[in-house]
Amino acid sequence: MSDCLFCRIAAGDIPADVVARTDNVVAFRDIEPKAPVHVLVVPIAHVANVTEAAAQIPDVLAEMVAVAQRVADAEADGEFRLIFNTGPTAGQSVFHAHAHVLGGAELKWENA
Ligand code: 5GP
Ligand code: ZN
Repeated sequence: MSDCLFCRIAAGDIPADVVARTDNVVAFRDIEPKAPVHVLVVPIAHVANVTEAAAQIPDVLAEMVAVAQRVADAEADGEFRLIFNTGPTAGQSVFHAHAHVLGGAELKWENA
């Protein structure tokens, strides 16, 4: 989708700090990091959110988790938080499925 930011990043049309890539998945640093390690893992195929990913491309969703683990292995001693904001109320602002991989420090766990 040419009007989708993460489709354009996945295609290389918009630059990003890419840290991992497979045939199906791209991982790049979030432009506004919320932790020392904050990487977004996205499917190259456009789906709107994690629920659509699970229904339509479950193998790619599993690959996204594997790539998240690889990023954490390289940058955060293998430990990470994985977040899929789903819907605007939950904080989703880009409607192309993406996993936030957060780590590299002791992460707080508080009421939202
Ligand atoms: P959401 O709010 O949808 O869960 O997450 C979208 C994320 O994309 C945000 O954390 C935001 O900082 C990040 N983001 C928005 N625009 C860009 C961009 O152009 N490049 C990169 N690398 N990250 C972006
Ligand atoms: Zn897209």
